[in-house]
Amino acid sequence: MNDVKRVYRFGADAAGNDVTEGRSSMNYVLGGKGANLAEMCRIGLPVPGGFTITCQTCTDYTSAGDTWPEGALDEIADAVQDLEARMGKRLGDPTDPLLVSVRSGAPFSMPGMMDTVLNLGLTDASAQGLITQTAAEHFVWDSYRRFIQMFSNVVMGIDADLFENALTEKRLMAGVRTDSELSASTLHELVEEFKQIFCSHVDPKAHPELVQEGRVVFPQDPKVQLKLAIEAVFGSWMNERASIYRKQHGISDSLGTAVNVQAMAYGNKGESSATGVAFTRNPATGERERYGDFLVNAQGEDVVAGIRNTEPIQDMATYPALAQAADDLERIFVILENHYHDMCDIEFTIEQGKLWMLQTRSGKRTARAALRIAIEMVEEGLIDRDTAVKRIDPSQLDQLLHPQLDTTASFEVLARGLNASPGAAVGEIVFSSDDAVKRSNEGHPVILVRWETNPDDLKGMVAAEGILTSHGGKTSHAAVIARGMGTPCVCGVEAFHIDAKAKEVRIDGSDVVLHEGDLISIDGGEGIVVLGAMPLTRADLTGDLETVLGWADEIRLQEDGSHPYHVRVNADNPDDAALALDFGAEAIGLCRTEHMFLGERKNIIQTYILSDEVQERSRALEELLRVQTSDFVEMFRTMDRRDVVVRLIDPPLHEFLDDPRELAVALARREAEGAPQDELSLLRARLRRIDAMAESNPMLGLRGVRLSFAFPDLPLMQVRAIATAAATLIRDEGLSPRPEIMVPLVSVASEHIQMRSIAERVIQEVESAFGVALDIPIGTMLELPRACLTADEIAPLADFFCFGTNDLTQTTFGFSRDDAEAKFIPAYLHQKLLTANPFETIDSAVLEFVRMAVSKARTAHPGMTFGVCGEHGGDPASISQLFNIAGVDYVSCSPYRVPVARLAAAHAKLANR
Ligand code: ADP
Ligand code: MG
Ligand code: MG
Repeated sequence: MNDVKRVYRFGADAAGNDVTEGRSSMNYVLGGKGANLAEMCRIGLPVPGGFTITCQTCTDYTSAGDTWPEGALDEIADAVQDLEARMGKRLGDPTDPLLVSVRSGAPFSMPGMMDTVLNLGLTDASAQGLITQTAAEHFVWDSYRRFIQMFSNVVMGIDADLFENALTEKRLMAGVRTDSELSASTLHELVEEFKQIFCSHVDPKAHPELVQEGRVVFPQDPKVQLKLAIEAVFGSWMNERASIYRKQHGISDSLGTAVNVQAMAYGNKGESSATGVAFTRNPATGERERYGDFLVNAQGEDVVAGIRNTEPIQDMATYPALAQAADDLERIFVILENHYHDMCDIEFTIEQGKLWMLQTRSGKRTARAALRIAIEMVEEGLIDRDTAVKRIDPSQLDQLLHPQLDTTASFEVLARGLNASPGAAVGEIVFSSDDAVKRSNEGHPVILVRWETNPDDLKGMVAAEGILTSHGGKTSHAAVIARGMGTPCVCGVEAFHIDAKAKEVRIDGSDVVLHEGDLISIDGGEGIVVLGAMPLTRADLTGDLETVLGWADEIRLQEDGSHPYHVRVNADNPDDAALALDFGAEAIGLCRTEHMFLGERKNIIQTYILSDEVQERSRALEELLRVQTSDFVEMFRTMDRRDVVVRLIDPPLHEFLDDPRELAVALARREAEGAPQDELSLLRARLRRIDAMAESNPMLGLRGVRLSFAFPDLPLMQVRAIATAAATLIRDEGLSPRPEIMVPLVSVASEHIQMRSIAERVIQEVESAFGVALDIPIGTMLELPRACLTADEIAPLADFFCFGTNDLTQTTFGFSRDDAEAKFIPAYLHQKLLTANPFETIDSAVLEFVRMAVSKARTAHPGMTFGVCGEHGGDPASISQLFNIAGVDYVSCSPYRVPVARLAAAHAKLANR
């Protein structure tokens, strides 16, 4: 075990030579924060020195039941000694103490999810030493009270409010607005009060190491402080909010977090000191401009916590004491972008005019900003097109197709705030995360309205349609998290005076008082709040999105060793088809004909199914033929020259019939009302027929191709409608329709073969009736394990295979989808019996069926095409896995997923380069 390196240094030695051991590629070892601190040191940026304890150490520690792995503590002690030598100061020194921060940092950025302690190393003795050194009593007592506060909360789990309340009381007594205005002596008093709070809230039995003469004392040995703080960061990896965040972002629990121990830079050392956060470009729009917030005379968390109102970074240069640092920051923006070739998110502190870099990472951005930045960086020559395409997360595109407020409707803006995360949302106001979860579980869309959010609000933020805060800037917690989740958010709506206890909002300049449950609309792209429910509209596919998708198309359609990857759409009506064409679909991969029987047409099909009069039935069938033909005419016209794969009728027929229970109730009521006998006997006959059609497992019953044996006229009518529509368009309009017929739910080859020969006969009849030649390929929908296993028997007589992975998933698992998703898949996911919902992301066994069927079919029938038209066709992870099966030519998905699929298909292809 002793040969594992657990600690990596960063920064310079006493002589100023860089002794950094890590680098940016080591994020799995050092966490993102540690790896990039090291990288910034390597490229010569000013970073306070320190060291990083590896993620592996956290994993070893937590998996051993919170026990230190052998040798780790010694290695840390050596690193502390080394850091002391490098900084020329010692922890706890009563004349010139070294203070450090202890910072968590996982391989993937988890903003605000875990905990950090600042100013560690302050004790009664070292505080005096720091005063001697700096002659800045105010600064020292401010630092000490912050340290006690953070140590108590983060390390000991003591309620932060106890300290905030004491602080508020002092502010009120002194008649000042902000903490930094408190006098040095008041801060000194606070230190003593904070220590009291600490001592009375720590359980002496849990912490015998803190007990002296029978009572708990605030630890006066920095080594003890440091050990406890590191252990707390390790522990924070498994805390609830970190776990929720990981689950939401698909980050593995087993990665662990690194711990960074770093010399402090003091942003609270007077008016020439400051702290802030910034992005190298605007993360909401992608524009190349300064973007960020800072606070004079403050430390770290103050900026994101919304405790004081921050100032925009543009104003920094107007402070003479900060002008030099503002200049340096500007220069560093450029260095970082040129080095990382990406938009960076940074945290910095200015100590008496000198700029220190404390963190950088690839900045989170909205989809709109991601596109803008990628395009501009290609223009600036920082990245190539492939990289630009890779940079856009397909699942984030959803955001752009997000609803917007319909600005053609008339409306009045109730209040304005910052446009922190784009998209519009309508919902009922709730004032707490618990209420957000509760109401949304009851099926009500909610807008979470808060003064400011904190990490404990995560559940509520996930549940909400939109987020509104009255405080906090564009880099506040609410803004960062909302952008990450793609949830609309308006921040800093200062006109809102929120009383969360009374559950009401008073608004400056308005008589309106909002209460819990009131409906509001917000637009996070515009930063506006509107009273009531506004109509929403969908955004178009234009500008930057179109450009990047165009690049993606070039990549995915290239013949470059791997085959082109096509994207089709599942659409059942001309409107959806037209929309999908706008979104870039190449063809229709699945047209479900049963959707054409809904609405008013339900009566016709009911008559066909239920009537025993031959004439009535054939009249109904003719009527169906007429409406279906006109549906297909429109559909094929919209999709001229493009394939339209029409699936023959698939669902169990009772889906078109009345619910027998309702019918029985109606019958009983009519009987009681003394309705005439012939009406009653008609109703009874109807009920008998419907009852007779009941099946115990309709999903596995009379449906798909099986229907053609019970109701042979039905699919034949459909084939006739398809052929007639095509023939009409060719003859009368000179168009080139390209319908294809797909036979659903085949399990034995003979089903397909029989259906095919009948269909071919009908097509021939239509051809001679119209005097035109039709070329209508006939293929099979592969969605049952038996069909996959015997694909080589079906293939010779099929022109194509399309995998219906929804049913294939149901039948592979033996899960009925509706029941499984509602009843037990959530529990399976929670208990990690499954890592993903197999109806969302394709399961490995289902993939194996696809792989096997494709390979058997290709041998039996070279040149066949294969596609996938289950919902997996719109899921980026599934799209990439399906691409790895040689022969899968296309995926087909719902219209709004088409842009996502185009991009994901390009990603799949790039991953194979
Ligand atoms: P998070 O991951 O929540 O952002 P950080 O570890 O980045 O937590 O710490 C939060 C803030 O604390 C930083 O942005 C910075 O302002 C402050 N901070 C951390 N370490 C130091 C340090 N060594 N000197 C000064 N400020 C620090
Ligand atoms: Mg940080
Ligand atoms: Mg199916």
